[in-house]
Amino acid sequence: MGAHHPEQPARLSAIEDQLIASGVAPHLARYEAPLATDEQLARVHPLEYVQAIRDAAPSRGTVHLDPDTAMNPHSLQAALRAAGAAVLAVDLVLTKKATTAFCAVRPPGHHACRFRPMGFCIFNNVAVAARHALHAHGLERVAIIDFDVHHGNGTEEIFEGDEQVLMASIFQHPFYPYSGTDNPASNMFNVPLAAGAGGKELREAVTETWLPALDDFKPQLILFSAGFDAHAEDDMAMLRFTDADYAWVTKQVKQVAERYTGGRMVSSLEGGYALSALGRSVVQHLRVLAGID
Ligand SMILES: [Zn+2]
Repeated sequence: MGAHHPEQPARLSAIEDQLIASGVAPHLARYEAPLATDEQLARVHPLEYVQAIRDAAPSRGTVHLDPDTAMNPHSLQAALRAAGAAVLAVDLVLTKKATTAFCAVRPPGHHACRFRPMGFCIFNNVAVAARHALHAHGLERVAIIDFDVHHGNGTEEIFEGDEQVLMASIFQHPFYPYSGTDNPASNMFNVPLAAGAGGKELREAVTETWLPALDDFKPQLILFSAGFDAHAEDDMAMLRFTDADYAWVTKQVKQVAERYTGGRMVSSLEGGYALSALGRSVVQHLRVLAGID
């Protein structure tokens, strides 16, 4: 994204470091992220948009797609692999080669709208994964859980009114991108939290709103838009989650997955910019996903 940008390569090395330091790394099977195909992307983004992104990709230097979102000569490949990782993860989980998967990817995706890059995001990775599960694997109900501190406005734009997809989210409000409070459709379960909210408010949102909605919906697959920028140490925003809160929320969703999806969950990295807190929180999330005590 350019020098001094919070969405930086060091985020993935911070995750890698904490996976090693925590002893979690040896428990994980690794896969190289493939490039998403036009067919996979076109289930979410019009091909004209995909082509516009290909055309915008510079051969040198940096171009800005919006004030926060830039591309350098490597960004197109990274964005295609970020979406492709989510597709591969769905394939692995739905063909029972894995029960759960986590995609350590950049750029993130949940602000990307059908026809618009936004907020560090180019392709909506989790949306591409959801449509792949529905169209390539024939599922009928996929739930998306978004605990990033920012509202996933792109995911909402793509799926509002789509009865095959339920989106449950918490996010700081009022805050960028200033969406998510209008309840645009009955498949959206948004819980805005005020600045300063922490684990107590997270627990209320999950137990009072998310879990009853998920029990009604009975998803066949659960996807996470896993952003870790609601952490108290992350100064991108002003929520106060702790490492342990990420374990707790993952456990709650895992219990739903065990009831309805055979435990199948796919998680894709969104935000999280305080490097140490990001790495530690991903470890907590993965311990629960992978069943490592
Ligand atoms: Zn975020």
